[in-house]
Formats: sequence, C-alpha cells, structure tokens
Amino acid sequence: MKDEIVIAEAMNQEVRIHAARSTDTVKAMQEAFDSSATCTAALGRVLTVTGLMASDLKRDEEHVRVRIRGNGPIGTVIAEGDGAGNVRGTADNMNLYASREDGHLDVGRIVGNSGTLQVAKDMGLREPFTGTVELASGEIGEDFARYFAVSEQTPSVVSVGVLVGTDSSVLAAGGMIAQLLPGASEETISALEKLAGTMRPMSEYMKEGYSAEELVKHLFSDAEILAKKPLRWHCGCSKEGFQRALLTLKKEDLRDMIEEDGGAEIVCRYCGNKYLFSKDDLEEILKTKTDVEHKKRND
Ligand SMILES: [Zn+2]
Repeated sequence: MKDEIVIAEAMNQEVRIHAARSTDTVKAMQEAFDSSATCTAALGRVLTVTGLMASDLKRDEEHVRVRIRGNGPIGTVIAEGDGAGNVRGTADNMNLYASREDGHLDVGRIVGNSGTLQVAKDMGLREPFTGTVELASGEIGEDFARYFAVSEQTPSVVSVGVLVGTDSSVLAAGGMIAQLLPGASEETISALEKLAGTMRPMSEYMKEGYSAEELVKHLFSDAEILAKKPLRWHCGCSKEGFQRALLTLKKEDLRDMIEEDGGAEIVCRYCGNKYLFSKDDLEEILKTKTDVEHKKRND
C-alpha cells in the first residue's frame, strides 16, 4: 500500500478531514538520517502533519514550512511540504532516546514543553502567511491543534503517530486533522469531541492495514471523499542547487576552499545526500562569479 492523503467531509458536511498514511515517508526519513526511535517519532509526526497541511496547496511549487523551537534536546525541528506531495525535514539532534514508564516513546521530553511552533504558508504571494503559537506539550499533535485554534481560528482535532520497532525501524505512521467548519452545530461539536476521546492511536490503525480512505470511512460513517493526494519523502536537492548557493559566497571564501581545502563537500541538511565539488568545479564557480561581476560593471 502506498502512502496517500485523503481530504473528506463528514458529520453533515460540518467537519473537514485530512488523513494520511505516512509509513513509507517516515521510513525513508529514518533511513536517510539513521535516526533514533524517539527522534524518528518526533520528526515523523511533524512530517505527517506538514504533509497534511500541504495537501491543501493548489500548485506544486507552493510550500508549507514548519519550524518548532522547543527547550528540549532535539533542538530546532524543521519540515517542508509542497503542493506535489513532497515532504522533507530535519532536526538539530537525531540521536536521542527518551521513553515513559509505560514504555512509550517520550516525544514531549525531547522536543520540550516550552517554545514555539511556527507555520509559514508560501502560496506565491508577496508575503507568506505566517502564524506562531506557544508549544502545548511538545507531543506535536496537541501543538498543531493549538496552532489551528489560535492562528487559523479553526477548532481542530489533530491525531498523529509513528510506531517504531525495537530495532528503530518504522512499522507504521499516519495522521489525521479533523476541523470544524464555520457554523457547525452543537451536535457536531460534541460528536467530534466524543470521537476524539474514543479513537485509537493513528499508528495502530495503520499497523492494522487501514488505508487513509478506510480510516476516514471507519471513523466517520457519512464521510464523502473529496480528493486524494500523494505523499512521499523527497528532498529535491541537487548539485545545481548547491552550485547556485556557492555562487552567493564571497570570492575569498571560494578561494580558501580551492587553495586550503582543495574542494568542498556539501551535505544536504534535509536528506543527508553528499555533493562533492572538486577544485575544478569551484574554480569554474569563481570564474562565473567574476564574469557576472564584470558584466554588471559594464552594463
Ligand atoms: Zn537534500
């Protein structure tokens, strides 16, 4: 079964649902970083919600960017999703372990319960829409629920989970955002609250083999599927992209790389891919930079 996001309406069309199976996406992330179980759960949850939010974007090149800065040892967690269903992300520290007395991974402890969650939606407008809230618990689901309530004035139930095996491999991952639409009746509000209190962890449904669509239909008897979107771990970085970044460096820094280091190795912070720039590559970049400057001066 492939990862997928479904968008649906239910409860008399008064609730909008986004649900995802994200097992393969989180698995690919874990393999890219060889991350520890607790860090995989933390970033996997953030990636899943970021993907759900990005599924509302209309065009492939639009982005949702999430930044979580808590007081826990994982440091800053960032994630990015685009309108084509690609997500990527990383954190300062990907090798921490924390568990609760009951054996569950303690995501809140490594993220921290004090700090901020920021969401920026870049939809091709001059200024991206940005909202920032204080973290609720560092457990991710509750933090995003607070973000939707405070920054987007949309009461939401957010449930997201990653099930990690004893060998740190990802067994299942998934998430759901259920939002009250404006004018929802008291009945719908209490029905959604009741559901939030009785549904099981998302990763359990995924482990049992539910697709995103089956999950929505299981939880909401009158659900109508409006759209299906892909979801995948894909960085999109390239040597050309880093070449453009190198062009923005100062000439003396480029010269140092050529003369002192004899080249450069750049590691993509999102996916861990390594890009090697030989001495010749860097000299070519330095030459391009010099040519561009001459051209500017002569224009
Ligand atoms: Zn990359």
